Amino acid sequence: QNLQEVFDRLKPELCQLGSVNAQILYMVERFQLGDNEKKARSLVIQLLQEVFVEFFPDSKIIPFGSSVNTFGIHSCDLDLFLDLENTKVFQAHAKANFEQAGEGMSDDGRSEDSILSDIDLSTASAAEVLDLVAVILKRCVPNVDKVHVVSTARLPVVKFHHKELNLHGDITLNNRLAVRNTRFLQLCSGAEERLRHLVYTVRLWAKQKQLAGNPSGGGPLLNNYALTLLVIFYLQNCDPPVLPTVDQLKHMACEEEECVIEDWDCTFPTQAIAVPASKNTQDLCGLLAGFFSFYAKFEFTTSVISLRTGQSVPTETFLKKADEAMQEDSTSKHHHGGPKIGPMNILDPFELSHNVAGNLNDRTARSFQKECQEAEKYCRSLQYQSKSSKGKSWGLVRLLTPHGEVQQARAELFTISIPFKSDVLPEDLRNQQHIAKEAFSLLWFQRVCAVIESIFQNVLKCQLVSAPEVFDAGEDMDSQNSSLDDSGFSVDSSLEFGPNIGVKRPLSSGSDDSVSPHGKKPRLSKRGRTTLSPWLWEQRHVVWAGRRKVRRELIKDSEAKAEGSCVALETQVTSHITEKEPELKEVLQFKLQPQVVGATESTSTLLKFQPIQDSVGVFQDFFHFLEVFLPKMVETMLLNRMDNV
Ligand code: ATP
Ligand code: MG
Repeated sequence: QNLQEVFDRLKPELCQLGSVNAQILYMVERFQLGDNEKKARSLVIQLLQEVFVEFFPDSKIIPFGSSVNTFGIHSCDLDLFLDLENTKVFQAHAKANFEQAGEGMSDDGRSEDSILSDIDLSTASAAEVLDLVAVILKRCVPNVDKVHVVSTARLPVVKFHHKELNLHGDITLNNRLAVRNTRFLQLCSGAEERLRHLVYTVRLWAKQKQLAGNPSGGGPLLNNYALTLLVIFYLQNCDPPVLPTVDQLKHMACEEEECVIEDWDCTFPTQAIAVPASKNTQDLCGLLAGFFSFYAKFEFTTSVISLRTGQSVPTETFLKKADEAMQEDSTSKHHHGGPKIGPMNILDPFELSHNVAGNLNDRTARSFQKECQEAEKYCRSLQYQSKSSKGKSWGLVRLLTPHGEVQQARAELFTISIPFKSDVLPEDLRNQQHIAKEAFSLLWFQRVCAVIESIFQNVLKCQLVSAPEVFDAGEDMDSQNSSLDDSGFSVDSSLEFGPNIGVKRPLSSGSDDSVSPHGKKPRLSKRGRTTLSPWLWEQRHVVWAGRRKVRRELIKDSEAKAEGSCVALETQVTSHITEKEPELKEVLQFKLQPQVVGATESTSTLLKFQPIQDSVGVFQDFFHFLEVFLPKMVETMLLNRMDNV
């Protein structure tokens, strides 16, 4: 929530910048933890350290996670590891001394009064120790509240809140692997600047698309660690690679840097300087687009991502190998059992039996890929890299805008309004004063719709994929509510059509066009608007390009002949173009939803367009043509009372 607000405020500034690269740098600059925040965090750590050492002699508080992994944002939590290893040694000594020297004595005189005398660290469970930690936090650390133990998590944890800094913190025990993988992220960041910028961008993107963060219903989401690993894996797979594999890093380490935690090899260099610079010179804008296209076509369900080798392994091969290894060596780490295989498999680079995306469900995994595909498509469009001169959102801003908003913006963008004119109705109707205004506008609306259908089908030679059905405002609207937003524009079904939109009889095919195809007379809803479910049209030709020239030629040719109607002429123009000009590489598909608003003199028909498939990127041109063409054509045809349809 917070993040979104910050981003919303940043939008105008971002749109002013000149390039996607500049946008990314600026965004990171504004989101990252500032020096003061880092200082405040380290003061909290210092304070905790001082308190804890009183109760747990020789203990250490070690920060990990986003406060120190170089990917932290203002509101990120403070992950802490309470290292009690030395305390255990201390306690064992104290115990030995105590037994030797008799009661009331210990080597430094502290342990007796200490909380330590209540607990034996060598036998206590994590939950017991954490309970104690919670008590210490509550009683002895100033400015702390909301302390509670969560013992059901994968790793039991004590949560707390620092009031003054409004900072949420987690304290865990036995979390050396997380501390180590934090070092790994720090190393990668130090070795490759671009990583940091990409991770911030991808984290924010995932958050905005509701793929990461705290689920608000809809199942578990990706966590930030998993997302970061996905970015690193992609960078390992760039050509040339931007980052080395974890195996390669291991070989860059010297002997003293060797590190094994819980049987897992966690060796890599301490200093980033040990990692040779990458030969890849791509900029952030290109790398970000590359990230999306890499995962847009990635086979998530059938492969396991390994940062160790920088490769993805088919799940079957992976499982077979793991099985063999287990049989061969039943004593060591393979004893941990294999990772949980799911719809997305990202192997932890160190704890190789752990799938960091193991909590993900099918749905989230699929939306991740779908979002990557959407983003890839956008990155391929011209709008991605070209600043909008009209101050519209572009580049990173468009990419990071949540769906609802994009759609709203699009819907507003692609609307044509056709105002009501009484003179287009037949004279006999116009004179019947007793007809209610409401019925009048509906009648007009139906005629407009029929004419529009005819224009697309006959004049512009679009293929009708599916036709609208009239909602009876009284009954059907309610059942349609879930997919209609306030403007009556379909939201959920933006990409797919709901079950109500099978192939229906086109509107104009009814002999009596005052009755809808289903025999019901549409009524205006209470809000004074009636919406039809959308048409879906296809266009294979660039029928909007060069019409004027073709028209001129046709007129010249036909001068001698009898004068055709405007409709006939425009139809001819289209035919001419479709015969002469090559087809589009891929068919353009768009949705058109008509809606009537207002039941008074100010009645108008709103035509809401939405591109459904536009990989060639021509929809906008088509729309700009329609903006001028449609209202004129509708008026002409209504005046002709459809004689020429
Ligand atoms: P943020 O707190 O901003 O969401 P973070 O990187 O701190 O980001 P946390 O979920 O707080 O993420 O996790 C803290 C650290 O714990 C991570 O940086 C990582 O080192 C480790 N970690 C988190 N989740 C996993 C996991 N699934 N497997 C292994 N290590 C993990
Ligand atoms: Mg964290």
